[in-house]
Amino acid sequence: MELESHAEDLASDLGVDKTEVKTDLENLLAYSVPLDEAKQSLRRKYGDGGGDGGTPSATAVAEITPNTGSATVTVTVLTVGTRRIQYRGEDHVIREGAVADETGRISYTAWEDFDVEPGETVTIANASVREWEGQPELNVGEHTSVTVADEAQSVPYEVGGDATLADLEPGDRGRTVEVLVLDVESRTIDGRDGETEILSGVLGDETARLPFTDWDPHDAIAAERSLRLENVYVREFRGVPSVNVSEFSAVEPTDEAVEPGGPTELSVGEAVDRGGVYDVALTGNVIEIRDGSGLIQRCPECGRVVKKGQCRQHGDVEGEDDLRVKAILDDGTGTATVVLDDELTEAVYGGDIDDAREQARDAMDQSVVADTIAERLVGHEYRVRGHLSVDEYGSTLEATDFDRSDDDPAGRARTLLSEVEA
Ligand SMILES: [Zn+2]
Repeated sequence: MELESHAEDLASDLGVDKTEVKTDLENLLAYSVPLDEAKQSLRRKYGDGGGDGGTPSATAVAEITPNTGSATVTVTVLTVGTRRIQYRGEDHVIREGAVADETGRISYTAWEDFDVEPGETVTIANASVREWEGQPELNVGEHTSVTVADEAQSVPYEVGGDATLADLEPGDRGRTVEVLVLDVESRTIDGRDGETEILSGVLGDETARLPFTDWDPHDAIAAERSLRLENVYVREFRGVPSVNVSEFSAVEPTDEAVEPGGPTELSVGEAVDRGGVYDVALTGNVIEIRDGSGLIQRCPECGRVVKKGQCRQHGDVEGEDDLRVKAILDDGTGTATVVLDDELTEAVYGGDIDDAREQARDAMDQSVVADTIAERLVGHEYRVRGHLSVDEYGSTLEATDFDRSDDDPAGRARTLLSEVEA
């Protein structure tokens, strides 16, 4: 087909002037854009179906892929979140969340407030589709139209943002949680607008505990308070979901006090599969103590472990003594490296840093401290509580509690029994 006839087809499809389309098409081809891609992009530019071309037919959400280009969907709005972002150096307030039809659920970002509420059914015409964290996402831009449908459609997804902490996943937006503030501190960070005060800490409900950040400190967020946090979003922070409170979030006291539950009990395999869990309890055998355990030296500048007098970042440094254990825990479903801080290490070693120095001096070898710890731990079963993160180096659990569990067969039996009865 000639360029002329491509332009003609496009123009009649889109209901726009042919000369204009032809000029645009020529420009794109002059920049070596392949013809198909050029036509796609013009469809996006002029809004497929936005002119006299009639109403485009809706695509099923399940059929949308990151390569779809642009799509028209009739969907029920599940969540609407608001967030301020910087895009190409400019401040934008965006709306974001999820929509769904009978076939599937998809997230969206809208660059304008299209004024819809969760539960409303809308036709989103001509949204461009982009890839976001491996999934397709609808981009509701200036060429997109949003109209409320006459008839509400029911969808097999929960409408509204109410969630428990255990439900939250990185990428969630427009969520509402009811939580107890377990811990909070004020910090000053170097933000893009200079020094900014933020709050950070830990939230809990009956299902989980998660870290949080409040980017626009709310006075109501204080320790021991039970709060309803509306319109929060979720990001990944060191391998676990983190709750983000912003200037658009509403913070209200709850009617009833929230009772936080204990740690999430999981097998090592399950915890690793989740890609990170905050406040998890794992039970398994210590099969090995890794290098870098026992009496170690840390860089006084950055705290990294110093090897042979060398810090990876600061070179030749005078290391400061510290105690640490990196133990491999295995329960048959998977393994994780459990890291014990100085206090937990003292407890399992049965001595403090002076005892460790003395033992190392006597043996003229500091690895004897790690050997002593290995003798005590390896081959025994432990219940470990802490925060698990998973990255390319493996799974690491920063322990807050580390207890021998095979000393207490009666307790184990009770736990087992309660699991069977549950
Ligand atoms: Zn250093």
